[in-house]
Amino acid sequence: DAPIRFEKVSMRYDREAVLREIDLEIASGSLCAILGPSGAGKSTLADLMVRYLDPDAGRILIGGVDIRDCRLDDLRREVILVDQAPFLFNDSIAANIAFAMEDVSPAAIEAAAHAAGLDGFIARLPHGLATRTGERGLALSAGERQRVVLARALLRSPSVLILDEPTSALDGDTEQLVAGRLRAALPHATIIVITHKPALARLADSVVTLEEGRARMTRQAARAA
Ligand code: ADP
Ligand code: ADP
Repeated sequence: DAPIRFEKVSMRYDREAVLREIDLEIASGSLCAILGPSGAGKSTLADLMVRYLDPDAGRILIGGVDIRDCRLDDLRREVILVDQAPFLFNDSIAANIAFAMEDVSPAAIEAAAHAAGLDGFIARLPHGLATRTGERGLALSAGERQRVVLARALLRSPSVLILDEPTSALDGDTEQLVAGRLRAALPHATIIVITHKPALARLADSVVTLEEGRARMTRQAARAA
């Protein structure tokens, strides 16, 4: 049981404060949507949870432990962020999914690809994906690259999965992907989704709205066990 707790977290880049003394608690195992206008600090909030950034003030606790007291490797094994513009290696999709993991069976890769909404892709691009124009092969859209990195994350079974604006290759099915397949793949994980989609927010157990440096939790429902 590892709720995520923000205690008076403040963050600024240059002069302007992006987050102002944010207090927040995200229940363990819940699906939490983070909403807010562009520039509100949503990605910053995500970056703080995996310690790509550390706050100027305040602290973040997971399961009661200040994440600054965790080893970075351990933290990033348990808390995985799938960001908006993930980087892929010019290798097969399967190799990208299994990246840096040993002894991963093809069946496990297949299952992760399915859960990430990539059915058929492993077969479609077996010999490498070209990331630059002029190369052979098919380029993937940003949404598809994000799904490959999502599949990679699923293989690692994190306790917290953060998705920064999952775009969809097939518009409209992001809700189904997140609330259906991802939840089934990670039944006990806390899933945090930064999104603009009201339909996705409606499926969430809690909704955090960021605005002018403040966070407001507009709904908090216990997730049915
Ligand atoms: P959101 O994800 O809600 O769009 P961000 O967290 O990306 O918001 O950014 C919040 C604010 O901080 C924006 O005004 C953005 O321009 C600024 N910002 C983000 N990253 C940096 C950075 N590395 N340096 C300076 N300003 C930044
Ligand atoms: P998304 O909605 O995920 O952003 P896109 O509209 O960008 O999707 O891409 C739609 C389709 O076009 C995808 O199947 C993708 O693989 C293919 N595609 C995108 N960019 C290229 C490219 N440069 N060369 C070949 N196929 C591409």
